[in-house]
Amino acid sequence: MLICKQINKSYSKTILSNFNLEVRQGEIVALLGPSGSGKSTLLKIICGLETLDSGYVYFNGKNLENIPPEKREIGMVFQKLALFPHLDVRGNLKFGLDKKSDIKEIDEILDLVGLSDYGKRKIHTLSGGEAQRVALARSLIAKPKMILLDEPLSSLDANIKEDLAIEVRSLLKKLNISAIYVTHDPKTANQLSDRIVYINAQILSDE
Ligand code: ADP
Ligand code: MG
Repeated sequence: MLICKQINKSYSKTILSNFNLEVRQGEIVALLGPSGSGKSTLLKIICGLETLDSGYVYFNGKNLENIPPEKREIGMVFQKLALFPHLDVRGNLKFGLDKKSDIKEIDEILDLVGLSDYGKRKIHTLSGGEAQRVALARSLIAKPKMILLDEPLSSLDANIKEDLAIEVRSLLKKLNISAIYVTHDPKTANQLSDRIVYINAQILSDE
């Protein structure tokens, strides 16, 4: 279980103010809020890519404060694809593995995300949806206990987005991985999550 308690974070202005969030084991929470409301900042704090000013993040009973990102067992899929364009799909997945190439694990994960025959494809030959599946596969191959998804479907066409949202949900449920899915799109939030949490409700209610 993830517990974010009274998190404060400011850059030149306050971004997160006494923010609280709990995610149970296996639960998928959609974090819904407008652009600039601190969604990406929160995910980075949880996975350890950004520091907090005050507050706590606990994961399965442990305070994460002094635990480096790679030891947190929390994966992240970014809004902008962070795939290596010069490598093929298989080469990208190897980067998610601790040990050297484990061919079986790569095959299994490709199967899971519906890309069984894609191992040798170059990244630039993939459609947007296929590339997102690779990004998802790459974070899942490290066997995280939780995964943070930062608007990974936002650049896709509506129909592909819908199909993939449903697939991502069933995949996470099958693997019993907790997730926070960040989006500014209420429809995707509904399709994908068990529960929706609003961030920066002030701005939302003004719209
Ligand atoms: P969201 O993901 O909800 O769109 P972000 O968390 O990316 O919002 O950003 C929230 C606010 O914090 C924005 O105004 C953004 O410009 C600012 N911000 C984010 N990261 C930094 C940073 N490293 N330095 C200064 N300001 C930042
Ligand atoms: Mg963002």
